[in-house]
Amino acid sequence: MGDPMTDGQHSRRAALQRQSAQRLEQLREGPDSNAVRQSEARRRTKSVGSVAVVAAALVAMLLVGAWLALGQGHGSYEGFPRASASTGVRPRQVGMSVRHQRIVSYSFGGGPRRFLIVGGIHGNEYGAAVGEALVQKLQSDPRLVPPGTRFDVIPDVNPDGHLADTRGNADGVDLNRNFPTADWSPVLSAGDTSSSRGLTGGSSPGSEPETQAIIRQLQTGYEAVMTLHSRAGIVDFNGPGGASLAASVSSVIGLPVEHLPYQSQIRGSMGEFVPVKFGIPVITLELTSSQLTTRTLMGVMAIAQ
Ligand SMILES: [Zn+2]
Repeated sequence: MGDPMTDGQHSRRAALQRQSAQRLEQLREGPDSNAVRQSEARRRTKSVGSVAVVAAALVAMLLVGAWLALGQGHGSYEGFPRASASTGVRPRQVGMSVRHQRIVSYSFGGGPRRFLIVGGIHGNEYGAAVGEALVQKLQSDPRLVPPGTRFDVIPDVNPDGHLADTRGNADGVDLNRNFPTADWSPVLSAGDTSSSRGLTGGSSPGSEPETQAIIRQLQTGYEAVMTLHSRAGIVDFNGPGGASLAASVSSVIGLPVEHLPYQSQIRGSMGEFVPVKFGIPVITLELTSSQLTTRTLMGVMAIAQ
């Protein structure tokens, strides 16, 4: 049973697709190449004598001033070279793994509409690599954050599993079966994949420090959540409005909207827990690559449809 889309949602999705196409176009061309070319041409024609030195210094000061001013906010970069330096967004510790590795979150944008992206809940999947690449990309190019939004990114919520290349955490718990849902069980379902063999749902609902870190972060209030998994190549969803949100992400990222075949047998997952507890949708993005392609990047941003 999906959520039927209203006309409003159709037109919002059309607007989103137009926006995404424009952004993709800008990214392909590189920003404002005309302005850069004109500026270089101006500098070349004045490259004689001391007047040229003073003029070049003034141009450089103006460009640096404008660049610094733009780097402070998320205004238009129209007419100026793309900022290539980091925005200096620092990680904030939101938890600690079983083996005492820090779990951190980065916040991009200061808008009232808040979105949470969680990578690496399964340590042997592509989520952490893509989550970390997403942080780097947003650090260097903050204009990618849609206006009016704030994106909190926890790139690697299971650092012990990531380090050991295991699906579970250091306690042998599948974190995506450890959430305190009504049907939580320490024993994984027979429908779970073979990669879950030997893992448990935890000693009690929400027993793991990594799960607790996600829950604490969720309590700060979000409009929607996206988790980064692999490798099914689908956009899965749960919760109110999840179907239309998944359709928007799907149209940008080019992966189909589908449920995992064994979804009905999954217990204690984040996809089950978040809508019931917080009344918001969860998009489960099943990646096909550890690379953050432009489509993947824009697909993640499309959660703010
Ligand atoms: Zn997974």
